[in-house]
Amino acid sequence: MAQSADASVNCVFCGILAGDVPASFVYDDELTSAFLDIRPVARGHVLVVPRRHRLRLEDLDEREGVAMWNAARRIAKAAQGGLHASGANLLLADGRSAGQEVDHLHLHVIPRYRLDDLVFDARAWALPAPERDELMDTASALTAALAEEVDR
Ligand SMILES: [Zn+2]
Repeated sequence: MAQSADASVNCVFCGILAGDVPASFVYDDELTSAFLDIRPVARGHVLVVPRRHRLRLEDLDEREGVAMWNAARRIAKAAQGGLHASGANLLLADGRSAGQEVDHLHLHVIPRYRLDDLVFDARAWALPAPERDELMDTASALTAALAEEVDR
């Protein structure tokens, strides 16, 4: 997806990265930055973002994707050492229908604590299981689409 050059002008995360909006940073590298979510669902809830304005998952280049994942991995581990978390959930909402609320892609790192009462709504997992044929059709469609991604 092509993005206009000024897509970042009204982006709150680009404002944070530019230092124009306050944030509590926890991590920076060449390609990514990470700061605390201002509406945390758990202590140490961090957002990992690409330093360049990227709207959707498909807009990331491969190096950025790897960098985001590595940053999240390090932060999740740091939450165990520094905040006594016992685990973490990683969550990425790609698109409005997935719940993406800020138009700058971000990967949530949500530390988990023993006996915390955080619940992720999983009603979707209560849907009836599809037949194997349907799963195979879906897998074939994804495999074919991935095979066309020769440029990435
Ligand atoms: Zn942005």
